[in-house]
Amino acid sequence: MIDPFGRAITYLRISVTDRCDFRCVYCMAEDMTFLPKRDLLSLEELDRLASAFISKGVRKLRLTGGEPLVRKNIMHLIRSLSRHLESGALEELTLTTNGSQLARHAAELADCGVKRINVSVDTLDADKFRQITRWGDLAKVREGIRAAQAAGLKIKINAVALKGFNDAEIPAMMEWAHGEGMELTLIETMPLGEIDADRTDQYLPLSTVRAGLEARYTLRDIPFRTGGPARYVEVAETGGRLGFITPMTHNFCESCNRVRVTCTGTLFMCLGQEDAADLRTPMRASEGDALLHQAIDEAIGRKPKGHDFVIDRATRRPSVSRHMSVTGG
Ligand code: SAM
Ligand code: SF4
Repeated sequence: MIDPFGRAITYLRISVTDRCDFRCVYCMAEDMTFLPKRDLLSLEELDRLASAFISKGVRKLRLTGGEPLVRKNIMHLIRSLSRHLESGALEELTLTTNGSQLARHAAELADCGVKRINVSVDTLDADKFRQITRWGDLAKVREGIRAAQAAGLKIKINAVALKGFNDAEIPAMMEWAHGEGMELTLIETMPLGEIDADRTDQYLPLSTVRAGLEARYTLRDIPFRTGGPARYVEVAETGGRLGFITPMTHNFCESCNRVRVTCTGTLFMCLGQEDAADLRTPMRASEGDALLHQAIDEAIGRKPKGHDFVIDRATRRPSVSRHMSVTGG
């Protein structure tokens, strides 16, 4: 799959559910309306969809959401998809999780061939954690992280940088992550979906965070890439790796290799654009995958060059109306 700008599409992210057991303030409104369950693709359909993409050249598959581990019987899907790892068709099967259910699933994930996972943690203060997730329990997430480490999974911590919330804590979070042998990646907030708060109050450019860190640490740019949009530095004092995902201050679209499918089978060619393709209808139209492949090809043929996110006082509305939990982070 090669898009009109010559980028090979080798990375698929599937949002397996739009539901979540947290309500992070930058991600969701408190009173979210979720999709009716009947609109969701079944686990068998998600498998069929993923397998079609793999046969078309996808080498890396990430399950996300919403919270992927709250989807009922999700381990059946992961177990089934692991056959593509065994055959060598897929290089990596991974997931992004809030960690709340990780303690229960870590060992089985490792057994299915999952090697590394991303866990989102925005603060190490239990009260602040409850505040940012609206009711999440940090102790449970930390228990999940320990279970994942014990199972031999490599962990990358994702933290959204939020002005006045965790800026002062970032050095401590980095020391913690690196001290535990984990990577830390910082993310700028993106204007996706209506939330209850004002995004201008939350938005913290990572250029500011980096300048702050450079006053205390020696950061060295390194060419390390995971196939994602993060740019990495090595921190001399901790020996660990720190990533920056900067959709707002630095456009990373030129090297984009990914597309996203929602839990209803809608393919989004860009996280930051509205254009999408329905894959559920062609998939359900016949037993064979010819129509599905055709719909995928057509959609990749119109993958846009990039996003145009804006967060400022004059732009009150989100750039994209759907929430991150719909398209999958
Ligand atoms: N529930 C899982 C989790 O939190 O890791 C997976 C889905 S979540 C939507 C994926 C990532 O997107 C999380 O790291 C989250 O912090 C991030 N995220 C959510 N909304 C965002 C936004 N508006 N801007 C930037 N990152 C966002
Ligand atoms: Fe749930 Fe993840 Fe969104 Fe938080 S960021 S509300 S954990 S989907």
